[in-house]
Amino acid sequence: MSKVLIIGAGGVGGVVTHKCAQHPDIFSNICLASRNEAKCRAIADQLPRAIETAQVDADDVEALVALIESFRPDILIHVALPYQDLTIMAACLRTGVPYLDTANYEHPDEAKFEYKEQWAFQERYRKAGNMATLGCGFDPGMTNIYCAYAQKNLFDEIHTIDILDANGGDHGYPFATNFNPEINIREITANGRYWERGEWKETAPLAEKRTFDFDGIGKKDLYLLYHEELESLSQNIKGLQRIRFWMTFSEKYLTHLRVLENVGMTSIEPISVNGCEVSPLQFLKSVLPDPGSLGPRTHGKTNIGVIVDGVKDGKRRKVHIYNICDHQACYREVQSQAISYTTGVPAVTGAMLMLEGLWRGEGVFNVEQLDPDPFMARIGEMGLPWQVVELDPEQDPLA
Ligand code: NDP
Repeated sequence: MSKVLIIGAGGVGGVVTHKCAQHPDIFSNICLASRNEAKCRAIADQLPRAIETAQVDADDVEALVALIESFRPDILIHVALPYQDLTIMAACLRTGVPYLDTANYEHPDEAKFEYKEQWAFQERYRKAGNMATLGCGFDPGMTNIYCAYAQKNLFDEIHTIDILDANGGDHGYPFATNFNPEINIREITANGRYWERGEWKETAPLAEKRTFDFDGIGKKDLYLLYHEELESLSQNIKGLQRIRFWMTFSEKYLTHLRVLENVGMTSIEPISVNGCEVSPLQFLKSVLPDPGSLGPRTHGKTNIGVIVDGVKDGKRRKVHIYNICDHQACYREVQSQAISYTTGVPAVTGAMLMLEGLWRGEGVFNVEQLDPDPFMARIGEMGLPWQVVELDPEQDPLA
């Protein structure tokens, strides 16, 4: 019987609240807090059991400490924005509350996301005997745990990893993003980057393209992107020689994005409009559909996973580990589309394992540093079943 404090009442916050509410034996008391309390109440109203709500500015450490001291949670799940990672980690450190998030720290003024500042909490969390779990969504999150599972159970040596993120869903809008548009567009318009033999290699944005035939979705074009889990996995998977991240985009999506980029709408840098300072990207975010509203209209499936290539018992082996998730099934269960669902479910599963002591430690951990077995044993019944498919080790599946 534990108390959970959830920060952030967006698409992912809604799923996390629903999923915690489904497990009253573990999460006996739930408080959902966000900048705008009305959004918390709207989520609480969808549920049959009582959820406390609160207003908090998560950029303000003192306000967070006051909220934590009044609710006294056993764990905090942070699903506000990556901009708030450091303030929320600081508040958890001050109050001794275990911390879990789904995205690494992003600098509000520059398109730069990295673990450096969160890893800098390591010694302080360790000395305080507290635990912070970083990046426990789907990617990062589930994908890192698939890699850790492959390392522990399927391979003696891992040589290469390709992370494949496919969304075969259609929401019927000409252009919308599946999660926070500001974070999503900053991620996609940044240069591509991958890691090979100890070095980072840069590509122009969306310059590397491949095709893959996804179970449940069919053939899709994939584009190479830099994604945050590459930073931790390149350090934590022993013997790794190369790791890349690929995401599917439709031609329609890319055409809209190119036009918006060409006219300066994807820049975070503020410009002066009639004497007001306006960030074009933040303005764009405010006119695009709210990702939280896409649930009822999104049909189709996601297929997200990893292709791991290496050696087992002296023989070359290549596997694809993945989950298929259906947008409408998610909507029926928790009133959200699959992108928020696939992020929120691993977050709640990770929080459960921390509360149960199956994930235990003092310090700051990326999820692949924790035992993948209890997580893989639990995540199917939580809503994200997975499968391992053997691939021909001699063939390159990313044609
Ligand atoms: P949304 O934009 O839908 O929701 C973010 C929420 O955070 C909003 O309710 C917002 O409140 C709240 N918020 C923003 N700033 C503050 C603040 N200063 N204080 C308190 N609350 C604040 O985003 P998503 O739900 O789509 O994403 C949530 C997180 O999940 C993000 O960090 C995102 O990067 C991560 N993510 C991770 C994925 C993964 O697989 N690992 C995939 C998808 C998302 P308000 O509405 O009042 O502004």
